[in-house]
Amino acid sequence: MSFEQLGLSSEVLRAVTEEGYDSPTPIQQKAIPIVLAGKDVMASAQTGTGKTAGFTLPLLQRLSQSPAHGGGKRGLPPVRALILTPTRELAAQIADSVATYGKYLNFRSAVVFGGVSINPQISQLRKGVDILIATPGRLLDHASQGTVDLSKLEVLVLDEADRMLDMGFIHDVKRVLALLPETGQRQNLLFSATFSKEIKQLAGRMLNDPQLVEVAPQNATADRIEQHVYKVDKVRKRELLSKLIHDEDWRQVLVFTRTKHGANRLAEQLGKDGLSAAAIHGNKSQGARTKALAGFKAGQIRVLVATDIAARGLDIDQLPNVVNFELPNVPEDYVHRIGRTARAGLSGKAVSLVCIDEAKLLRDIEKLIRRELPRVDVPGFEPDPTIAAEPIRQGRQGRPPGAPGGGGRKRRQSAQGSSHPPGHGGGRKPGAGAAHANSRGGSQQRRRGA
Ligand code: AMP
Repeated sequence: MSFEQLGLSSEVLRAVTEEGYDSPTPIQQKAIPIVLAGKDVMASAQTGTGKTAGFTLPLLQRLSQSPAHGGGKRGLPPVRALILTPTRELAAQIADSVATYGKYLNFRSAVVFGGVSINPQISQLRKGVDILIATPGRLLDHASQGTVDLSKLEVLVLDEADRMLDMGFIHDVKRVLALLPETGQRQNLLFSATFSKEIKQLAGRMLNDPQLVEVAPQNATADRIEQHVYKVDKVRKRELLSKLIHDEDWRQVLVFTRTKHGANRLAEQLGKDGLSAAAIHGNKSQGARTKALAGFKAGQIRVLVATDIAARGLDIDQLPNVVNFELPNVPEDYVHRIGRTARAGLSGKAVSLVCIDEAKLLRDIEKLIRRELPRVDVPGFEPDPTIAAEPIRQGRQGRPPGAPGGGGRKRRQSAQGSSHPPGHGGGRKPGAGAAHANSRGGSQQRRRGA
């Protein structure tokens, strides 16, 4: 099938051809005709499947086929399409895609997210924005200041809805929905990697007779990725990682840690090993995050160390290597993480450094992806059989899974020269994260802490 057969206009086709896309991906083949027909969509698709173009291309075309609905409140030109995303990185990337795919159409698009000054966003909104890409919190700030008018919205896209809920944005999303025209008076597209009960409830609230779109199961991207597990003691992971980067000559590697503190420390240690490394996570300013990402993409930074949330939606063309320095607590995050490589049909390598504490996490991942990951032994790095498993620490805000108090058994490993001083980063302030708690409780606090 070709893009022409999907009924896309010449302006859109021209942009797609310039991007070098030969044929539509499965999600694009399915979603584009439905969106062009003006129907609501509930699609299960992860990043890496081409879903952004799947909703952006037909959205651009539909907007270009009808005039805007007229003037908005207080002289503000109303927004015609809103794309809501959970993270700043994803918002910025979608904004880039909208600009790229829409370059032969006459739309004004803008992106608003927190962590940066609101004033330039206000001036942009005042001038008029047809397509707005936003994270929920900052969008609500604009709404409360009266600097955005969503009352004439024609198309709503909720991207990565599952992540949005995991990050505790459900109330924000509901508040945004309340600012829009009635469900039946706008087109609604919901994209999510998974469909939990909560997502279905949200879909029931925001979609109008949706068409279901499903592409290959969740772990499909994993098939093109060479995946290996290196069994190694926790205290030797950094040493092994440096060795692998040097020996295998990995030039661009995205490394995942569980905590922000862990990301910082690892980037620092790798720097001491002579590797150019930077950390990217929620505590970094937007400027620092953008700079690290740009340096990584340009090849000046060889190792980018990230937490799950910060890395969510990162689109790095042809990223060859992903390393799980620590396995994620949520098995689905493994699929998201390794999906950063092998994008759009390319192949990639994912390596997981797994210590004894992570045996259960590894089993859960293998159950989810329905395959056993091959183990690799590196001579000199064989795990010490006398080390016993310990509960996994979560940094300041988290807690070990299944251990409500967050306290662990006494560390037998502490005498092994861990660079993690006792108590450092492992303690929790009572009530940390509680400000964001709602019925999703622990899982939400865990995500907030990433
Ligand atoms: P996404 O799932 O939207 O994050 O897209 C993943 C990557 O696939 C991005 O780098 C896109 O530029 C690329 N992409 C999207 N559609 C196509 C296509 N039809 N052919 C080749 N690459 C594509």
